[in-house]
Amino acid sequence: RHYCDTEKPRCAGCDELIFSNEYTQAEGQNWHLKHFCCFECDCVLAGEIYVMVNDKPVCKPCYVKLHAAVCQCCHNVIDPEAQRVTYGKYNWHATPDCFLCSCCGKCLIGQKFMPVEGMLFCSVDCKKKLMS
Ligand SMILES: [Zn+2]
Ligand SMILES: [Zn+2]
Ligand SMILES: [Zn+2]
Ligand SMILES: [Zn+2]
Repeated sequence: RHYCDTEKPRCAGCDELIFSNEYTQAEGQNWHLKHFCCFECDCVLAGEIYVMVNDKPVCKPCYVKLHAAVCQCCHNVIDPEAQRVTYGKYNWHATPDCFLCSCCGKCLIGQKFMPVEGMLFCSVDCKKKLMS
């Protein structure tokens, strides 16, 4: 009889029922506190900021160290909570300082843009000017 199933949440990590009152709800599932850990450093993620990388939770320090996208413009890591623009393998901070035309500096957030190998252009004219 699986009477307990209706009473107690089941841990998605170890597949056992959770009898403690303290557990983590994440990714639509329940976890023992110590079973929802960073895939890289094993730190407990309860109450911490984490990022899913290939379906594995990763703590923010590990994410920044190992997985974070780097801004094509300023070459700094893009914070996982920050707005960013992704195009192919390139990423930018979604800020007027970073997501702008490589030629004239016009901010391209919400605008039409032409990406060329990590550079951005607002128009064919700007692209021609810089590429020729
Ligand atoms: Zn567990
Ligand atoms: Zn970690
Ligand atoms: Zn940037
Ligand atoms: Zn331009």
